[in-house]
This record gives sequence, structure tokens and C-alpha cells, in this order.
Amino acid sequence: MRDPRYDILFQPLTIGPVTAKNRFYQVPHCNGGGYRDPSAAAEMRGIKAQGGWGVIFTEQCEMHHTSEITPFIELRLWEDKDIPGLARMAGKMKEHGALAGIQLAYSGVNGPNLYTREVPLAVSAMPIRTFTNDPVQARALSKDEIRDLRRWFVNAAKRSQTAGFDLICLYGAHGFGIFQHFLSRATNQRDDEYGGSLENRARFAREVVADIRDAVGDTMGITMRVSLDETIGELGFSNAELRDFIEMNRNLPDMWDLAHGTWEECSGPSRFKDEAAQEQLVRGIRELTDRPVVGVGRFTSPDVMARMIRSGTLDAIGCARPSIADPFLPKKIEEGRIEDIRECIGCNICITGDMTMSLSRCTQNPTFMEEWRKGWHPEQMNTKGDSASVLVVGAGPAGLEAARALGLRGYDVALAEAGTELGGRLVGERKLPGLSAWGRVVDYRQYQISQRPNVEVYFDSALDAEGILEFGFENICIATGARWRRDGVSRQHVVPIPIDPATPLFTPDDIMAGQVPRGRVVIYDDDHYYMGGVMAELLVQAGCEVSIVTPSAYLSDWTVNTLEQHTIHRRLVGMGVDIVLNRGVVEIGKGHVVSNCTYTDRLREIGCDAVVIVASKASNTGVYDDLLARQADWADAGIRSVRIIGDAEAPGPIAWATYAGHRYARELDMADIGDDLPFRREITGLAAQ
Ligand code: ADP
Ligand code: SF4
Repeated sequence: MRDPRYDILFQPLTIGPVTAKNRFYQVPHCNGGGYRDPSAAAEMRGIKAQGGWGVIFTEQCEMHHTSEITPFIELRLWEDKDIPGLARMAGKMKEHGALAGIQLAYSGVNGPNLYTREVPLAVSAMPIRTFTNDPVQARALSKDEIRDLRRWFVNAAKRSQTAGFDLICLYGAHGFGIFQHFLSRATNQRDDEYGGSLENRARFAREVVADIRDAVGDTMGITMRVSLDETIGELGFSNAELRDFIEMNRNLPDMWDLAHGTWEECSGPSRFKDEAAQEQLVRGIRELTDRPVVGVGRFTSPDVMARMIRSGTLDAIGCARPSIADPFLPKKIEEGRIEDIRECIGCNICITGDMTMSLSRCTQNPTFMEEWRKGWHPEQMNTKGDSASVLVVGAGPAGLEAARALGLRGYDVALAEAGTELGGRLVGERKLPGLSAWGRVVDYRQYQISQRPNVEVYFDSALDAEGILEFGFENICIATGARWRRDGVSRQHVVPIPIDPATPLFTPDDIMAGQVPRGRVVIYDDDHYYMGGVMAELLVQAGCEVSIVTPSAYLSDWTVNTLEQHTIHRRLVGMGVDIVLNRGVVEIGKGHVVSNCTYTDRLREIGCDAVVIVASKASNTGVYDDLLARQADWADAGIRSVRIIGDAEAPGPIAWATYAGHRYARELDMADIGDDLPFRREITGLAAQ
């Protein structure tokens, strides 16, 4: 059972008029579903309730129609009509004794109002601050409108109460909530009693808390999510000023929720931020207030969590990503099953769901946001079908997850791996600069598989069709992965480019296998995710002089969605990498590449001693193709099904592969659904006319 060292995490915590059953506090987090997928979002929260969280929050909820952040999909509480959807979520949160919290957001200078077409209202008149630089400006709230806004907060609080929530979080962090905009001199340039001194800038927060307390404070706890540091120097709301603010308003909310000044800082990926990265910014704040304090830090280690509380740094352990990767994290600690925790790897794929307005995925937890759509539970599999055995070929993320989930479902599984280690692409990738935490994808599954007598792993087993036919397994799952192409084909080029063999050429696979280019190296990045930038880091460390050439206007373009594009660019500049944007590579000559301008097609040569091509990947389909060619022999060999999954089917990020493995395990032996949709969905209720 539970290790007594962690008892401290299970002490109840009083938050104003309500009490949380333990210290596990799921802070607000987006999920890409929001108002468009209300039941999917509600069920996801309900799974966390089962998993033992003491407090569970919604994502940000736009509390009034005069401020919204279209195209991003969060929640809305604009009128009574919105209450039933939110009530469903609150109900799910409370099913197992958690407190249900709602985060009320008025986006102010962060809300372009692309949907409602209202003129944005902000603390001061200035351009809207969004990821997309929308060409929209906000006007300043008049004093009458500040009074209106206070009333709107009260209306939203009352509706939240009707929906069944226990806690209200007032959003003032990440650059997104109006409380931060009032507090920060960067966004508050008013010269009335709401601007100027810190006392004035804090006035709005004091008024709203008092208003809400009057309206619902006898039954609901009020938390305030404030920015730890805007990290924009003198002008911004600094950590020192936050401390002054809290000291001056010691007991303003029922709980302080400390988050970072920007989302990028708060949710930094593991490549750039360690667990508990905000500890220094948080330490000592608790002494400035009598109210409890919660903070985040991608906490996945119960020892670190217990230390945070024992040392008096935090009263509750705030988690967003760790609760996504493992909704059962509290239960596992409670039951003494630490080694079963599926630790977040800090890849930020979950955030890409919000950034791309799709349902969020999680690399570690393929059931995330499929709890309602597909009825997938993160800890339980559906009952076993009528066949008995499965051969999984390839132990990358797809094969590993398939083997784990099939084993849990009750099949006899053999996992055959050509190499001598589990992990596939991750054998190499986890050793790359900043990516060691990604190895948790392998470690979690390796341990789970080792605990199952019905899953056997075979190394040094490069299987071919003949071997597979001889084995006599009923179901064959081909998860043989992919390799980086060396011919330049990706987005800029749909056919191979001319390559002079005189210039040494490498792919990321070569480099991960230990081959190292020397001298001046050109990296041609037409992949646009992390690999090009990571290769640049690695090669600088290896002593190369590196240029990275990309047809995109941004280095590692897609990492905008994982909130790390700025950090990657900054790091590579700091390492002396020559970053060449808006240029492609059309030819690799002897001692140079020929680079074209993306806009004008003008050519120039860039001299180099070696080239690294980070373009697209080719699936390893050889075994699968050979098996298909011998379909006539399947019945005699006892084979009922053959499927190809993961990168071997179509290369993608690791999250796509774990999803494919999980899906395979779920759907094996299931009846054919024909042309039916493989998931549930909700569509907007049609108005009568
Ligand atoms: P995915 O991301 O889809 O899981 P990976 O490329 O990470 O794909 O992993 C594929 C794994 O399959 C690698 O570990 C590779 O060694 C293994 N593999 C490839 N071909 C064979 C084969 N014929 N027999 C056994 N294992 C194979
Ligand atoms: Fe963690 Fe990555 Fe899952 Fe997000 S997607 S919760 S960062 S493992």
C-alpha cells in the first residue's frame, strides 16, 4: 500500500468554504475539444476524477461574449444556454469526490473577437496580443465598463454555481487573463485609479474578488491564477512585484495559483525545462499569505511532490500535463504503485491539439480525449476477442504500445525486435540533446510488459515473411517503423534531387547510429519539426560549423505548436548556428549545396564539407509486402489477420505511433463496422428555424 513518505500528499486542504480531499490539483488545461466537443471534454475530466485528483478544473472559460479567442476552442459561459454543457462537466468531476473548478477568463488584450465581432475591450488601448498577430486593436475600458465587467464576472460566477462548480479560478497568468493585464505595467497604462501604483493596478482584482465573494462566496472557493514573472524586464509584472502584490493582498482569494507570465514559459517542454522548474520563483511566496498556494512544474515524481509540500513551498501539487499523461497518477501513489505511473515526457504534443484546434493527443496516454468518443479508458482494456495470439513485429512506440495493451487485454503476445533494445526510433532519439525524458515512452511500456506473463519479447529477431508464416500466430501486427530518406524528397521536392556522391551525406538515422560529419555542415530541414534543430545542436556539440537551411520562414516551424519555436531559435543562435530561412536546397554538389530562394528562386551556393538531410521518412514495408504477396498461405499458417501500424503504415510523431498501437490492440477481433464512423461525435443543435 501507500508509502508513508507520501501521506502528506493525501491530507485534505481547505479552500475557503470547501475542502479538497487531497493535494492533487489538476490545474486548468486546454484539450482542443472545449465547446465543440463538450461530452468528450467532460468524460476526460471524469476519468481524472476516477484517478483520484482532489481538485479538477476546466480549461479557460470565456465568461462574456465581448472577449473571446477564436480560433482557439475553449469553453463559453455567455448565457444560461451554456450551463447544461458545463453542468455535465462539473458533474463528471465530482463523481468521485473531487472539487469541481471553473476557470473564468476575460481575455481583454488577448481576445481578437473574430467570432463575435465585438470591439475588444482591454485595460489600455493597444494591439491585440495573440500568436497570430491579428490586425485588430482593443480600446480601453471606460470606468463604467469596468463596472459592467465586474457585474459580468458576478453573472458568470452565479452561472458557475448553478452548473455545480465548487471553485472559481480567476485567470491572470500566461498573458491571457485580464487580471494580469491590470497588474502589469506593460498592458496597464491607465492614469485613473486603476493604473499607476501597484495598489491601483490591483484594484480590479480586489473588487472582483469582493463582488464574487458577496454573490457566491459562502459556497464556492475563489482562487486567483497569477503570473510568476512576465520575463519582459522592468516594464512587466515581475516576480518581485508579484510578491509585493500578494503581501499587500495577503488573503484576497481563498487560494493562490501561481503560474508563469507566458504560456511558453509555464509549459516549457522537457527539452528546455526540468521538473519543478519554477521552484525558485515560487519559494517563499507561501510565507506572504495565510491562504494555500498551488504551483505547477510538470511534476511526475511523488518524491518531488512530497518535498514541495514538506518544504513549505506549495500546499497543493498543480498538474496539467502529468494529469493528461496519467489521469490515475494520484491513485497509483495512493496504492503504492509508483512504478506504474505513466510519466509525462514533456513533448507538448497535447498542446498542439489546442494550437491546431483539433482534439488533443498525448504521446504517453493514447486514450486522452478518446474517453467519450471511443469509450477508451486509460487503465482498462475491453474484453478479449475470440482469437488467442498476436505476433507484433517491431518494438518501437507502436509495437510496444500494441504489445502492452494486447497483453492487458488478455492475448498471448510475442514482440519480435530486430535489434537488441526496445524503443525503435527512441533508442537513438532519447540520446539526442534535450530528449532524454522521451525515453519514458519506452521505460513505462518495458516495465508493464515485463510484468505480464502473457507477453514475451524476442530480441535479435529480424523476421521475414517466411519466418512469420512458420510461427503460427493468429494475428500479425507489423510495426517495423520507418527510416529517414536520403534523397531530399519531402515538401519542397516530390522527386529526388541531384546529389554528387563526393560530398558526404547523412540522415538523422546515420547520426543516431554514431556516424559524425566533420567540418562545415549544411543541415537541410524540410521536416520542420524538432529533428533539424536537434541535429544542429548535436553537431555543434560535436565540433562542426553548422548552417541550417529551411524553406520555411521559421526554424523548426511546427514547434510553434509545441510552444518551443522561440526557444529553439534562441538556443541555436546562441550556439553560433547559421540559420538560413526562406531558402531550399535544389542540388548537392561537390563541396557545396545549391540553395534557392523560396520566393524568387534565385540561386546561391553554400560551401560545406558534409550535408545532413532532414526531409521525410520512408516506411519499412518489406515484411508486410512479402506477407501480402503470400496471402494464399495465410490460412494454412493459421493466420487470421495481418495489419500494418505506426510509422510502417505512415510515418508521424511518436504520439501517432502509440495511438496506432493502442487502437490496434482495442480493435483486434472487433466486428467490422463497415462504413460507420469509428467514433462518436456531437453536432451543434439546430435552431427551430
Ligand atoms: P514506430 O514509431 O511505428 O513504432 P519505429 O521505427 O520506432 O516505429 O520502430 C520500429 C522497430 O521495428 C525498430 O525497433 C526496428 O528495429 C524494428 N523492426 C523493423 N523491421 C523489423 C523486422 N523485420 N523484424 C523485427 N523487427 C523489426
Ligand atoms: Fe506530457 Fe507529451 Fe502527453 Fe503532453 S503529450 S501530457 S507533454 S507526454
